[in-house]
Amino acid sequence: MAEFQSPVQLPHIPDNLTIPQFILDIGSRQRPQRMADTPFFVEDATGRQIHFPEVHKRTSGLANALHRKWRIGTSDVVCLFSPNHIDYPIAIWAVHSLGGIITPANPSYTVEELIHQLNLTKSVMMIIHPSSLGTALKAAEAVGLAEDRIITFNQIDGLVNSTATVDELIAFGLNEKVEYKAQRLEPGEGKTKLAFLSFSSGTTGRPKAVEISHYAVIANVIQTATHYRVNDPLWKEKRMNPGDVGLAVLPFFHIYGLVVILHYLLFCGMSLVIVPKFNFPRFLRSIVLHRVSHLYLVPPQVVLLCKNPAAKDYNLDGIKFCNSGGAPLSGDLMKQLTQILPNAVIGQGYGLTETCTTVSSIPPDRRLGVIGAAGQLLPGLIARVVKEDGTLAAEGEQGELIVKGPSMALGYFNNLEATKETFVNGWVHTGDEVMIKDLQVYVVDRLKEIMKVRGFQVAPAELEGHLLLHPDVADACVVGVPDDYSGEVPLAFIVPTPSALNHIIRNATEANTLKRSIAKHVSEVKISYKWLKGGVEFVDAIPKNPSGKILRRILRDRAREMVKKG
Ligand code: AMP
Repeated sequence: MAEFQSPVQLPHIPDNLTIPQFILDIGSRQRPQRMADTPFFVEDATGRQIHFPEVHKRTSGLANALHRKWRIGTSDVVCLFSPNHIDYPIAIWAVHSLGGIITPANPSYTVEELIHQLNLTKSVMMIIHPSSLGTALKAAEAVGLAEDRIITFNQIDGLVNSTATVDELIAFGLNEKVEYKAQRLEPGEGKTKLAFLSFSSGTTGRPKAVEISHYAVIANVIQTATHYRVNDPLWKEKRMNPGDVGLAVLPFFHIYGLVVILHYLLFCGMSLVIVPKFNFPRFLRSIVLHRVSHLYLVPPQVVLLCKNPAAKDYNLDGIKFCNSGGAPLSGDLMKQLTQILPNAVIGQGYGLTETCTTVSSIPPDRRLGVIGAAGQLLPGLIARVVKEDGTLAAEGEQGELIVKGPSMALGYFNNLEATKETFVNGWVHTGDEVMIKDLQVYVVDRLKEIMKVRGFQVAPAELEGHLLLHPDVADACVVGVPDDYSGEVPLAFIVPTPSALNHIIRNATEANTLKRSIAKHVSEVKISYKWLKGGVEFVDAIPKNPSGKILRRILRDRAREMVKKG
């Protein structure tokens, strides 16, 4: 049977630990020894550092306050609605210490998008950045969450907050008697105890809450550490070492930032420079200023590094490792990057929210990943490639990748139907068409509906549902079209209503006005990466199969042809 699996053996993965125990408890023998004088976190803008004892203190202070003031406890869901912030991880671990679950949300979400997440996860509290207060208040009101259940991180520029702040709560929690009992797990319990509800659309439909256990995160960290031999004293080419510095510029609300950057790099004994928002000149300055050694990026950031002349004004020789993930990176860009980062190991990683991140990563012994491949399968994973006829592909043949391993998510929260489609007998159906050779995963195409715009998922079903609310739209289909910077951008095929059709036939100006109105209908209520930057095209009908399912590939190919012809 054609199954692909790394020959490297995994060590024991603890199934009785919470994430904060695994990352913070003194005496964990599985972690590389952190150097005493290196901070956990460095705030990019101010240079403020926090070291292990302060991280520990802040976490337990906040946990005590959340328990005493709101009785946050087992299985309560807390929504984190913020860009990266030095207290973001503290908030995660405080909630985990109480047995609660974190659902991380994109801080640029509109009210409508935040309501969807709060409703789906039944969040009982929000921890937010003050700049998101307006959106948070409106969404909270809509879902019936009391205003005093919104607390804010402290704002660096000193704006006065109207809600309780995390700093105040930490001070309160540290002053008062500790009332909470830190969450402890029975053997095996870590496998089902939920840590995160992260959002992904999976292979079809609207964004759903992916159930991620404590064990899944710990497993993916250990799998990655085993892949890179971070605990093997004899391994010469160790890629991550205590004292190295990672730039946390990708958002913690996405699984890549959350598991790989935050938890994996900290596990390796590294320091993290916390960056709230990507800004290219600032990014270059921060690399030099904080002596960053490790970059974890998405392809549009690699495009900037390779194409923007500003990159040449900075000495980037200190970068030892640069991984691109979240969306495909061309072999050409990978090679160009070697000129910009002359001392770095360079390559790609591949993974999904549903696999609790990394499936394949840069080979541990190569300076440049294999061109065209999205990395080498991690130890502990079993991969199969299923051909269109349902049989298993041999090495070098293409088909849908399905994977099994200790880091797999448990399913979609409160959505049995979608769970049954994607999580089948322990196998996660990735919806990606791949070919595997020498344990390298080559992502050939995407079989599932989602688009990846700047590394973010866009679910066509979400946009189509919204487009149908426009009074002049009778039917809609959204597909991705290639874009040099974003990877792809959404384009909407629209069937106008009969009355709108009369206008369009009569007058080209009116047709353009309608296109603009449809684009605005989306941009008014959706986050910017979901906007119809690929355009709006009118068609007579959306092709569908006899049971009414959109034949998306036909329109996707048509859109690609249109873009090629310009
Ligand atoms: P997400 O759950 O948001 O991380 O999205 C996962 C999807 O991103 C995968 O199923 C792939 O379609 C895509 N993806 C992630 N990494 C890569 C990569 N290196 N190459 C191609 N596609 C990728």
